[in-house]
Amino acid sequence: MTGHAVVVAGGGPTGMMLAGELALAGIDVAIVEPRADQHVDGSRAGGLHSRTIEVLDQRGIAQRFLAAGQVHPALAFSGNVLDISDFPTRHNYVLALWQSHFEPILADWVGELGVPTLREREVVGFAQDGTGVDVELSDNTSLRAEYLVGCDGGRSLVRRAAGIDFAGLDPSTSWMIAEVEMDEEPEFGFRHDSVGTHAIGRREAGEPIRVVLTERLVEHTGDPTMDDLREALVAVYGTDYGVHSPTWISRFTDMSRQAVSYRHGRVLLAGDAAHVHPPQGGQGLNTGVQDAVNLGWKLAQVVHTTSPGSLLDTYHAERHPVGARVLHNTMAQVALARADDRHAALRDTMAELLGMDEPRRHIAAMLCGLDIHYDLGEGHALLGRRMPDLDLQAADGPTRVFTLLHDARPVLLGLGDPGGFDISPWADRVRLVDARHDGPWELPVLGEVAAPPAVLIRPDGHVAWAGDLTDPELPRALATWFGAATPA
Ligand SMILES: Cc1cc2nc3c(=O)[nH]c(=O)nc-3n(C[C@H](O)[C@H](O)[C@H](O)COP(=O)(O)OP(=O)(O)OC[C@H]3O[C@@H](n4cnc5c(N)ncnc54)[C@H](O)[C@@H]3O)c2cc1C
Repeated sequence: MTGHAVVVAGGGPTGMMLAGELALAGIDVAIVEPRADQHVDGSRAGGLHSRTIEVLDQRGIAQRFLAAGQVHPALAFSGNVLDISDFPTRHNYVLALWQSHFEPILADWVGELGVPTLREREVVGFAQDGTGVDVELSDNTSLRAEYLVGCDGGRSLVRRAAGIDFAGLDPSTSWMIAEVEMDEEPEFGFRHDSVGTHAIGRREAGEPIRVVLTERLVEHTGDPTMDDLREALVAVYGTDYGVHSPTWISRFTDMSRQAVSYRHGRVLLAGDAAHVHPPQGGQGLNTGVQDAVNLGWKLAQVVHTTSPGSLLDTYHAERHPVGARVLHNTMAQVALARADDRHAALRDTMAELLGMDEPRRHIAAMLCGLDIHYDLGEGHALLGRRMPDLDLQAADGPTRVFTLLHDARPVLLGLGDPGGFDISPWADRVRLVDARHDGPWELPVLGEVAAPPAVLIRPDGHVAWAGDLTDPELPRALATWFGAATPA
């Protein structure tokens, strides 16, 4: 039986990001993935939100994705266009980049980090004991790992085999989605009728036409066919526009479910395996990638025995509420799109509200992940929030905060006079950087906050402590997040 410290079930966006994070932290990790290569059926997710681009920037790889997509200054909440170009981030836009283009770029990075992907096989079961997990694969082999992470999508075998309840709502609406060509010029844009909202679009010349149709029935047996698509087009538009050459026909629903626990002993869940919801607001892939960035460094520290296994409970404590909020806002978006006069009135009211700056900023920051605030207790406004990517003047020249995070190690950033804290008991894990920042500290939604004299930044870019270097809370925060002090 082959062994790895961590086995990741699923080489989609979440699994790859997690494996990359673990590899950066020096962990022996392998991905198990049924697909023979990184090809994605259909284009699926349409883009990256600000916080996802930021976490990629924290690893020095954002430019690879930016070079492959197009930036847009606004995102959408149930048809309301929300401009985010005034947000205090370097990435104050949405990056339009299909999942089918995103995955190969991420796979290249994971490959460069030396992560093996065991392809054309899947995880079919596992058994965990006090020291590890035996992971059974479909080719009748097995792997031994200290931890198994299910990043195996909405139908997660890992979640089901772990007996973790997937609580939530059954579907109330079903949509057919297709990528096709048409002989006649279709009616591009949205159409609303008594069944719901339908849309036909083409992002760029040369790309297929994308059709999304609300279906009359919620329940279906089997995948939709070309005949189903023609019939559905005629029912909505009175014509099928001579549809042909499908590259993808599928369906999705507004089923909203979340794993009640993201951890069961040595087995963890991330991404769609932990939460499914409809694509309104484009948050699924983004939430999965951010789950992975929260979990990666924690799991690495536990495997390195720097931290106790209980550090993994903070993964559920921090990410479950974020997932729940995503489910909640997608439910609201589906409800707002309902095709009746009362919902039309509600849409108008929401549109009025979202035309005002504060509601726009509030909802947009939620959708793009910039408002995420882990509950780390009372303290400075930065505590538990993402560290802004400030320009810094360090001893060896200008830099910026995200550059300091490229190697996924924690940073204690001193912004006052150098010295004043002895980092040596943590120096093998935490880097002390003295630097200056001239300028305001502006956070999304909150606005300007008081500049702290020092901040302790976790590898995921969230602030674990902020204050004066003489604060007795600082050694406690270092020990809580990055393990006990090494005796002199
Ligand atoms: C039509 C549509 C539009 C969408 N639009 C957006 C959008 O605009 N923005 C957005 O953020 N999200 C969007 N999403 C959601 C997004 O596609 C998912 O949230 C995202 O793919 C989740 O990534 P993941 O890695 O967690 O899961 P997946 O992408 O589902 O990957 C799971 C992986 O696990 C593998 N696997 C399955 N079973 C096993 C097993 N037993 N063992 C090992 N491996 C296994 C699969 O082959 C797959 O590679 C959309 C989804 C759909 C369907």
